[in-house]
Amino acid sequence: MPHDEHCHPDTLAARGLGDAEPPYYDIVPPLHLASTFERAADGGYPGGRVYARDASPAYDAAEALLCRLEQGAAAALFASGMAAATAVLLALRPGARVVAPQAMYWALRRWLIEFSTNWQITLDFYADGDELAELLGRPADLVWVETPANPTWEITDIARAADLAHAAGARLVVDSTVATPVFTRPLNLGADIVMHSATKYLNGHSDVVAGVLVARVEDELWARIKSTRASGGAILGPFEAWLLNRGLRTLFPRVRAAADSAASIAAHFEHHPAIAAVLYPGLPSHPGHDIAARQMEGGYGAMLSLRIRGGEDAARAVAARVRLFRRATSLGSVESLIEHRASVEGSGTRCPVDLLRVSVGIENVQDLINDLEQALRATAD
Ligand SMILES: *Cc1c(COP(=O)(O)O)cnc(C)c1O
Repeated sequence: MPHDEHCHPDTLAARGLGDAEPPYYDIVPPLHLASTFERAADGGYPGGRVYARDASPAYDAAEALLCRLEQGAAAALFASGMAAATAVLLALRPGARVVAPQAMYWALRRWLIEFSTNWQITLDFYADGDELAELLGRPADLVWVETPANPTWEITDIARAADLAHAAGARLVVDSTVATPVFTRPLNLGADIVMHSATKYLNGHSDVVAGVLVARVEDELWARIKSTRASGGAILGPFEAWLLNRGLRTLFPRVRAAADSAASIAAHFEHHPAIAAVLYPGLPSHPGHDIAARQMEGGYGAMLSLRIRGGEDAARAVAARVRLFRRATSLGSVESLIEHRASVEGSGTRCPVDLLRVSVGIENVQDLINDLEQALRATAD
């Protein structure tokens, strides 16, 4: 029995899960670069590996740790969050019915619409839990949940969605990128698969694009997903997998510090005269707060959005005037980012034009508040 069996998840992450191994007993795992593995004279594979597209030892450390953190049966790294998400959908049969949220990562929503048309998938969108319940009065194959959801941080009750999905004969997949395993464990709440853009909090340093899926059970759907990775070839490079593993070791302190700062920033600006609304699930005024308080443990994440009084021009002006926040898309890194989301998403966006999406990092929170204050003041003058 591994001696970390009864440790808390933050201990598992800090230690990178693994035990040091011979011959050098390295404190960090080695980097496995091999694309292929030697066969024995008897035709067997003594190392248990054949070819790196099928199963690379470069993934073992991060996959094992993510499996433990999400409390699943199996994990698979992918070349990106989108590669992970699309692998689930590509494992469906033509004619399947998918139920997905109105508020979700926009690139996935756009792809899903194209894919469903080409693949003869029936696709229905829900706006909230009650609409989801109504849509699941009929049989379905897959239910997608993103919580908190981009870019307004709507909260979906995972346990309720799981009950509804299973009663309709569907699997539940949760995009938990924003919640992270620090605050939510969807598999324990009844989800079948949890997905992360590991580009975000899991890696946490804006230097890797990666994705991961963790499954509650290794069933036939999981086998099809693994086959999509191996044959479709959307695999992560060994060095990116190694960097991801390094980033994971500081996951808990990074995410907790960022979420504490996000809560302070949300509270500071909630009644600010230049702000029309602060969208953050940790605020009691947020429509999803009660569910978030039940299903998120220890924090509400580090993503929030500010709706700026004065509309689109004022929002863009504030984004132009910040000095510490970096103007960039993406989220979940140690540096704070801000973006005018509607103009990033472009035509067809559902994002309000006065909205600035903020990914809070681990800088000093007073410096971040001061930076937003000076940008808001300069815009109001
Ligand atoms: C970034 C993101 C994705 C897509 O992940 P990539 O790694 O960019 O492919 C999916 N879902 C959410 C919530 C994200 O933030």
